[in-house]
Amino acid sequence: MYRMSGNFLKILIFLLLVYAFSLSKIATAALKCEEIKKIPTTSKVIALTFDDGPDPDITPRILEILYKNNIKATFFVVGEKALLHSSILKDIYAQGHTIGNHSFSHIALDDKDKSTIKKEILLTNLIIKILTNSEPNIFRAPYYRCSKTLNNVLKEMKIKHIGYTYADFNKKTKSSDFIKFIINNLTPGMIILIHEHKNISFGYDKRPTVFILEELIQEIKQRGYEFVSF
Ligand SMILES: [Zn+2]
Repeated sequence: MYRMSGNFLKILIFLLLVYAFSLSKIATAALKCEEIKKIPTTSKVIALTFDDGPDPDITPRILEILYKNNIKATFFVVGEKALLHSSILKDIYAQGHTIGNHSFSHIALDDKDKSTIKKEILLTNLIIKILTNSEPNIFRAPYYRCSKTLNNVLKEMKIKHIGYTYADFNKKTKSSDFIKFIINNLTPGMIILIHEHKNISFGYDKRPTVFILEELIQEIKQRGYEFVSF
């Protein structure tokens, strides 16, 4: 009986040590991304950026809206999706938009070692290069999670990390509130992040962000802003 509880104590201490170690790992991993959160400009320009594509349902709709409004945007694509939907990736590029790297498999990279991070970035750049004959020099970290190692790899590869000013993450807002929020906070150089897949939708009306895109563009245009890509 005594032996068993002794073992139990050892196991408990071991688990606590594992837990403490994982906490310290998280603490060191949670590092700010070295990034551009706004375009440094005083001109009335806005950058639309789209994450997590290409998506076979959503991306063609986005491209249609952008084409109709004569707008160039930036797409941070996921390598494995680019491979799966290569014709859509080619369409994005053919329509004059900028393509950025959003990793190969959309895993969090802040707790990964240098070689894993490099593989995720290099593989995606290679796929994009093969499909478009052009290689991205901009990156956005999946889940927006950075580490010192990731920042160093990006520096080494001469790739810039692009952040955002406002994103569609807040699922508790209505889509109309998101538009209002952006319009009320419009500033030169603002970078807007919109997701290309259906999983990010507004809490109240469950509409993926793409369905507010046309309305958002019109509201921004009415205030004399132009759209730029990276
Ligand atoms: Zn993402």
